[in-house]
Formats: sequence, structure tokens, C-alpha cells
Amino acid sequence: MTTSTVLVAWCIVVCQDHAAAQATSQMAKPVRQWRWDATAEPLALVGGRVFDGSGFAARPIYVDGGKIVRARPTGAREIDLTGRYLTPAFADAHVHRFSSRWDAAESREMYFRHGFLYAMNCGSSKAARSECEAYINRPTGVDLLYANGGFTAAGGHPVKLNETLHRRHGGDPATFFEQCADDRFYIIRSSSDITEKAELHALTRPDLLKLFLLHSDEFSLRAADEQYYGRRGLDPALVPLITREGHRRGLRVGAHVESAADLRTAVHARVDFVLHTPGYNIGSSSGDVARFLLTPTDAQLVARNGTFHTTTVSWVRTETALDTVRRNLSVLKAAGVRVIFGSDDHSNGPTREIRLLRALGVYSGIELLTMLCHDTPRALYPDRRIGRLDTGYEANLLVFAADPLRDPGQLIEGPVGVIKQGAVLSMGE
Ligand SMILES: [Zn+2]
Repeated sequence: MTTSTVLVAWCIVVCQDHAAAQATSQMAKPVRQWRWDATAEPLALVGGRVFDGSGFAARPIYVDGGKIVRARPTGAREIDLTGRYLTPAFADAHVHRFSSRWDAAESREMYFRHGFLYAMNCGSSKAARSECEAYINRPTGVDLLYANGGFTAAGGHPVKLNETLHRRHGGDPATFFEQCADDRFYIIRSSSDITEKAELHALTRPDLLKLFLLHSDEFSLRAADEQYYGRRGLDPALVPLITREGHRRGLRVGAHVESAADLRTAVHARVDFVLHTPGYNIGSSSGDVARFLLTPTDAQLVARNGTFHTTTVSWVRTETALDTVRRNLSVLKAAGVRVIFGSDDHSNGPTREIRLLRALGVYSGIELLTMLCHDTPRALYPDRRIGRLDTGYEANLLVFAADPLRDPGQLIEGPVGVIKQGAVLSMGE
């Protein structure tokens, strides 16, 4: 696909998002009945076609005790899925939803409606997470991993962001730092801070250690200049030490990155997740695009270290950013990097990311579906049997009204049926 074709596709996506937002405000939401009181039951799902990684094949699925079983269980409730298409449930590896009691119910509906039963919250805090408890990590909730804050420099990215949010919610500016430090962010000034902060972070029982890199090639310049307040990240020299500390505590480590230098720092330090595609956030006047472009050597290192790379194309707001992200994802794909789906999109949830990934032209329909239903769920939960609809796997599955490979609009529309751990949460027309 040429750059201009991609740009046209991007404009269409932006217009579709706008039109969709308008349509939602004018019409009632699509009817989707959810059974939030559903529990696991023996099931015989017959007549449907099941995604096996290379296409759809007709076969029944039997469910007992929340898992897929070989033989039809006695007393199974039969559901006729003739003409329907079944896939494993989807995952989003970069969300900031499920961060308070105010958004939890709405986020569960949004994510279930689009078939996303797993997600990773790359921020939040212990208290915010506990406010979402009724909506997560249960058969009737989305399975969530949490970073519980992030490790950053003094005046680093999440500091200014949280200061703004604190003020917006009527907080006293004088109490901001006291309330948010060592909770929503952990400031690392030197190597002597790492153990103490990691200890405090571990007390919140996180699933991930998130660290922030922003233009690490300009670290000294940005650290010394007040105009970069909120736009600076960790000293790159500390990143291997922080990563080692996280691993020592049994945590996987994810890095926020902006530039190609940030990605190199993160991957050399052996982080487990790169949480953005370099260039995702560049404006039209960001000058030197070369600072954001990955080389084949970079991509080979990411592949060799087995680092998961997260897409986050939803952030793109300029043609330059779109072109940079497309080039970077192409280079990563060519090197065989494990690229996973991450939207980081509070307003649209996962749908804009799906549209843009399709429009980019880097991934085929089958590659995108595999990323959604296999690669990303497996990356988030490597110890669970998910991402396939085979015997012994969790019965976390989606039912589509049409073939999502032939009619990719299905991925935007969302499934007509959702089953989680054997509980039928929705099975509409
Ligand atoms: Zn984020």
C-alpha cells in the first residue's frame, strides 16, 4: 500500500469514528442483553464454524466446568450456531480504563461488546483498582492485569498528567504530590532509590512494573530544563537496574517509549513489553522523523529478546505519525517480532485501533484476527490455556454473525454472543 492510500484510509477511519460518535448520540445503543448473573453450565455449541488459526472449520464445541471438553457432557444445553463463526476471546494489552468506580461498569460493557475479555491496565493505582473489583477477574468481568502506577524521573510524564487530573477533580494542588507519589508514580532519581520504590510498589500487589522512557537520547537536556516538565523520562542508565529489580520480584516489565532510542534502551534492558510504537505521538512539526524510525537491526534485537511489542496506533493524529508507525510496524513484522494489540484509547476503546490496523495495510485479515484472539491473550496470560478453542482450554469465546475474515466490519460491530468460562453472558440474534 502506498503512503497516500494509507492516508486516505486513515482519513476514512477518522471520519467513521466521528460519524459513529454522532450516530451513538442520536440513536439508542444497539440492543445487547447481558446476563451478569450467568454461571458456568454444560454446553453443546453445534452448527458453527470455529477459527483454528488458519481459517474456519465446521465442528461442535462442548463445554463443561468452564472448559472445552472432548465429548458432549450429559445434560448439556444445546445452542444452535448454524451460520455463526466462533473465535477465542480478544485482548487489549494497553488500556487505562477500569481505573475507577466511575468507569468500571461502562468499561466492562464496552469491552465485552467488542469481544475483549482480557486487558492490561498500564497505570492506575491499588485503590483505583479495588474500586473496579465487581467488574474484573471473574466470569462476568474482564480479566485485568494492572501496573499500579509507573516508575519515572522527577517531573516525568505521569507526574504532570496526575497533577492535571488531581486539579480537575477538585484536589488541592498542595496535597497532590503527597497523595499521588509512591501510588500513581514512583520517582527514581538515582540507583539508590530503586529497591525502596520497588518495595513500596510490590506492596500494592501489581501484575506489571511499568517504566517511562521519553526521548532518552535527550535525558540530560530534559532533566535540566523546566520547559520539559511532564515530558521527560527515566535516566536510560537506570533502566536495566529497574528491570532486573522487577524480574527479581517476579514481575514482568513494560516500557512506555516515544523514540527509537527509547525502544533500544528498553529492549537492551530486556523489558518484557514495549508499550507503544515509536512515533505514535509525533506532531506534524516534529522535525527529525529519523529519531523515531526503527532499523532492521533494532527489530532483530526485539525479536531475538522475545519482547512483546504493542501497537497503539489509535494515538496517531498526524500524517507523519501514521507513516512512521506504518514503517515501524512493517520493519518489526519483517523481523518476526511478537506484535500484540494495544489501543491506549480511552474514548473509543479498542475499535479505532482495529480500524487503523486494518487501514495501515501491514497485517492481513488473518494476521489481525490471530493478534486479537491468540497472540495478545497468550502474551498477557502465558500460564493460562486461552487463545484456542481446543480440548482443555478455557471456554472464553465469541460468536460472530458472519465470517470476520470476509467481512472485517464484524470486528467493529462486535460479536453477537459472548461466553466466558462457560457462562453464557450474551447470545443475541
Ligand atoms: Zn498508556
